[in-house]
Amino acid sequence: MRYNKIRKMDISNGPGIRVSIFFQGCSFHCDGCFNEDTWDFCKGLEFTDETIEKVLDLCKEDYIVGLSMLGGEPMHPKNISGSTKLAKMFKERYPKKSLWSWTGFTYETIKDYEIFNYLDVLVDGQFKKDLFDPRLKYKGSSNQRVIDIKKSQKKGEIILYKDEEY
Ligand code: SF4
Repeated sequence: MRYNKIRKMDISNGPGIRVSIFFQGCSFHCDGCFNEDTWDFCKGLEFTDETIEKVLDLCKEDYIVGLSMLGGEPMHPKNISGSTKLAKMFKERYPKKSLWSWTGFTYETIKDYEIFNYLDVLVDGQFKKDLFDPRLKYKGSSNQRVIDIKKSQKKGEIILYKDEEY
């Protein structure tokens, strides 16, 4: 599998200052996607154990409050084993830092994936150009949901994320 880029300090994708990794490859091809460069599964750079170590090392700084995984598509069958491995190792090393991910899938269709043992917040659903609203926080279109995974798992229903919790 491959990834597109790593940001050492990202203030656009989740709360606080975060490290972010953009995976390579997405088959949704949403009209108006913010990141078409990540669609091709063959582009980008190889995702290896060294990549994971690099990301984890960047996360060690005290000012980094968490890790964000974006796309491309972190939950695509071609990417899920790598994103899950990174998620697991991140939470083992930094249990108090938050882990966010974005996906074009809806939570209900992927909620049994192992990665949800480690994720704090999932922003789900494809980007819909006709529902785009620049005032939305952490998402581009109003059909998408910012889901508090830990609370949703506990309650057995979708609980939306409230700011300042992770
Ligand atoms: S799911 Fe995300 S990365 Fe994939 S095409 Fe849609 S907006 Fe772009």
